[in-house]
Amino acid sequence: MLRQISIVEHRKKYNTVLSCLWHLLKIRSPKNGLCINPWCKASIAKYYAPVRGRQAIFCRRCLSHFYPMVDSIFSRGHIPLNLLFEIMYLMLACKIQFPHVK
Ligand SMILES: [Zn+2]
Repeated sequence: MLRQISIVEHRKKYNTVLSCLWHLLKIRSPKNGLCINPWCKASIAKYYAPVRGRQAIFCRRCLSHFYPMVDSIFSRGHIPLNLLFEIMYLMLACKIQFPHVK
């Protein structure tokens, strides 16, 4: 069972767009912790870095770019990702506290 974190913990963890991008990368990339390019096999933790000025992350070894927001509910949005994460947190926290509210 997942532990509900407080709003303070949530704001510390997802305080920037980049931290939210890293979270999306973590949940959308293969579970083996290796580069999305199947021929590269570099460690994500060691070789991945953010792309300046874009909401993307790239591999410094094979130069593949990964856009964690593509094909998700966050694509084509203009609201900062950290703000969207906070909105989702507040909606879910409200739903947990008042489960009868639909
Ligand atoms: Zn790579």
